[in-house]
Amino acid sequence: MTLSLQNIIPQINAKIHGTISTAEIDLVSIDSRSMQNNENTLFFALSGSNYDAHHYISELIDKGVQNFVVTYIPENLEGKATFYVVQNTKNALQQFAAYYRNLFHFPIIGITGSNGKTIVKEWLNFLLSPDYNIIRSPKSYNSQVGVPLSVLAINEKHNLGIFEAGISTVNEMEALQKIIKPSIGILTNIGSAHDEGFANIGEKIKEKIKLFKDVEVLIYNKNKTIEQFLPCIDIHVNDKNQASKTFNWSFKEKDADVFISKSTLLDKTVLNIIYKNAAFDIKVPFLDDASVENAIHCLMVLLYFNYSIETIENRIDLLYPVEMRLKVKNGINNTTIIDDSYSSDFQSLKIALDFLESQKQHKKKTLILSDIFQSGLSNDELYTRVSQLVIANKIHRVIGIGETISNYKTKFINCGTFKSTDDFMEAFDSLTFENETLLVKGARSFEFEKIVTLLEQKTHETVLEINLNAITHNLSYYKSKLKPTTKLMVMVKAFGYGNGGFEIAKLLEHLKVDYLGVAFADEGISLKIAGIKTKIMVLNPENTSFPSIIQYELEPEIYCMKGLNAFLKITEQKKLVGYPIHIKIDTGMHRLGFQEQDLPVLIETLKNTPSIKVKSILSHLATSDDLENRNFANQQINLFEHLSTKIIQELEINPIRHILNTSGISNFGESQYDMVRLGIGLYGISNDDKEQKYLENVSTLKSVISQIRVIQKGESVGYSRRFVADSTTKIATIPIGYADGIARSWGNQVGYVTIRNKKAAILGSICMDMLMVDCTEIDCTEGDSVIIFGENPTVKLIAEKTNTIPYEILTSISQRVKRVFYRV
Ligand SMILES: *Cc1c(COP(=O)(O)O)cnc(C)c1O
Repeated sequence: MTLSLQNIIPQINAKIHGTISTAEIDLVSIDSRSMQNNENTLFFALSGSNYDAHHYISELIDKGVQNFVVTYIPENLEGKATFYVVQNTKNALQQFAAYYRNLFHFPIIGITGSNGKTIVKEWLNFLLSPDYNIIRSPKSYNSQVGVPLSVLAINEKHNLGIFEAGISTVNEMEALQKIIKPSIGILTNIGSAHDEGFANIGEKIKEKIKLFKDVEVLIYNKNKTIEQFLPCIDIHVNDKNQASKTFNWSFKEKDADVFISKSTLLDKTVLNIIYKNAAFDIKVPFLDDASVENAIHCLMVLLYFNYSIETIENRIDLLYPVEMRLKVKNGINNTTIIDDSYSSDFQSLKIALDFLESQKQHKKKTLILSDIFQSGLSNDELYTRVSQLVIANKIHRVIGIGETISNYKTKFINCGTFKSTDDFMEAFDSLTFENETLLVKGARSFEFEKIVTLLEQKTHETVLEINLNAITHNLSYYKSKLKPTTKLMVMVKAFGYGNGGFEIAKLLEHLKVDYLGVAFADEGISLKIAGIKTKIMVLNPENTSFPSIIQYELEPEIYCMKGLNAFLKITEQKKLVGYPIHIKIDTGMHRLGFQEQDLPVLIETLKNTPSIKVKSILSHLATSDDLENRNFANQQINLFEHLSTKIIQELEINPIRHILNTSGISNFGESQYDMVRLGIGLYGISNDDKEQKYLENVSTLKSVISQIRVIQKGESVGYSRRFVADSTTKIATIPIGYADGIARSWGNQVGYVTIRNKKAAILGSICMDMLMVDCTEIDCTEGDSVIIFGENPTVKLIAEKTNTIPYEILTSISQRVKRVFYRV
């Protein structure tokens, strides 16, 4: 997003103090701690019952922020920045977001309901991402502030939006409706969560469906309670022939638009669907009711978008548990942990117990549960119901944590209680956890993640986390730069640029890329063995690998006569017809490829060889990322045009032509020919700073603090005493070193890691398996998580400071670092 202040300010009815600068605004911020605030930030100073962001304005001015939306100008700051004074900063943020929303005209899906909003949003994103460039709310940003921030992240590349709206009381939805303005509405189920804010369920439904005021269609589960309230919204009909703008489903009512019956087959739920006089089955890879309902809401969208049954079937089959809430982890002493440490309402407890049941790893089950909030019931009634649930789910042991649940201990059998999380942690060593599944479920304020950390197996302290949704996003971003007909090859060489070969290839296959590219035959073979069906080009096949290339149906790049003749010998022996090969031309990179003088012989040979087929002709640019060498790249492109045309004309063939890598796509888009080869951009790195903003971070390298110590003035750290303290210094040791791929040039205070959102400089030399950092100013403890790279520091920054390129850093991360893939 970039907008000028001249455009923004009139939208929020502000009184201006200072001069409106001509600066372009590309970040709206409400978080004074964010490291991203800078001179292009417009800061909205929100305030609440126990905080007031106005207090941080002078700090932000020091960081370069110049523009503030405020309700008052803090003392002594008049004249030091430009202030836009409004009555209410939250309303101003909402007004601005509503204005911004109206600048875009693509379909927006708005989701509300009591449960399942985030899951439906994440799943729809997954199901639709092969075909759309989607903007969606991050995590569960669905509040009065979360929604405007989500909407303000829309940019001109997007062509579909998915936003969730959550409310806790009456008169909140109207504002969210104006900001999201959904064209397609989804009402997920209405349960009893968050009931306190409403007089009754009717009032709640009435409020929620205000989101759908102007939708072109509303998707919902047809049942009496909801239907009753639909007339409350003004569904105005655009198309006179269409009786209603609703699209509903039901398990019970045959007159629903989509009538569904369900049955179970092994670990899947089979939905028999009757829609428009056709009947067909779709398998959902879940058994619990909530997941099945969420999947049906997604299915309804696919039907509404007219996807073929086959596509729907294939995609729904790949749905995965949304990990934001329920993560399954390996714990100590052969335990399995279901980590739901972020919420505790009655409805989500039911869902979690369902999930626990579906897991079936161990016979024995323990529930670690905090006080429950937002139930709408009296405590007596609530814990009676919880106890019934616990019995119904055959839970062996309950550990209750919190003042309230402790008072109801007697309602449970085999129950231990603790007044607080800290009390539990203190007693931890005296408790046994073994051979069982542990459901850890607690409200945010109980910080149950501390408990999960204790319970987790500690074998992999250093992990490279790979965000698969970010990969999807980055792919769509580059796709949006291509003509619809241009094919896409994605380079997954070097183990997916260090990120994980198979997992990424699998995702790319789901996203329907046309080709994968690897460097060596071995890499392609392991992908094929793992079940990848997408075509794979091998950039640098050795002659000895030709037989296995053919065996595994890989497609070689052929770059010299020797290679061509050797390959031909085998294809002819095997009596193959039209085996696909790719002809590489050297246009100036001088690495691999036929040169101009080789063409006559090449063409002559290819004329008489029915055993192979030239599937594509390619070349590679040496300077696509370097605009000072634009001329050189253009020369390469011209030569490619000339030489490839010659081959095509003389052989009378029609191959795919391709020359652009990531930076080529950005800088020489007009030469995209029939295909491009995307590499580093997919992994979230652009050589162009402007473009970088549109990409999402994919890889985060994380470790933990092994030990903390304090050293005195004059004491030193590490080999050769490269760091000597000039005052009392707190040092943390982190178990990652140059053998894991961290360059030694990043040590000695050149580099830093992030602990609890703060920078900790690396002190002394980086060792083989460890490094030490300065955490004097950080309130941290042993076991705390440490970010080596990711959002901050970025791989790009490390590359710059250590005099290398991001490619080298990513591909140097040792294979002993475990890769963990997630979607959020
Ligand atoms: C690695 C590679 C690419 C991808 O390059 P990026 O700069 O990562 O986009 C494309 N083509 C060839 C021949 C390559 O070797």
